[in-house]
Amino acid sequence: MPSPRRRPPEPPAQSVLLDWRAARHWSDRVAPCRYCGDLTHLRDEERRPAHKVCAERAAAKNVAAQVAAYSRTALPDEM
Ligand SMILES: [Zn+2]
Repeated sequence: MPSPRRRPPEPPAQSVLLDWRAARHWSDRVAPCRYCGDLTHLRDEERRPAHKVCAERAAAKNVAAQVAAYSRTALPDEM
């Protein structure tokens, strides 16, 4: 009798908390957030306009995608 195949565990929900206390994350001029389009004074690491919560949400999505991709390559199908 074949043993039941085990599925890899679902990756946990990812959360990312960015530290944007440095002055380089602030601009005196408002510009549309690159994610949601609303105006913001904040700038990401590359000085692009972005809300902190929008950047954190995008980073969390990126982390989750990498975890899922890594899980697929790290856990090959059992023989
Ligand atoms: Zn935004």
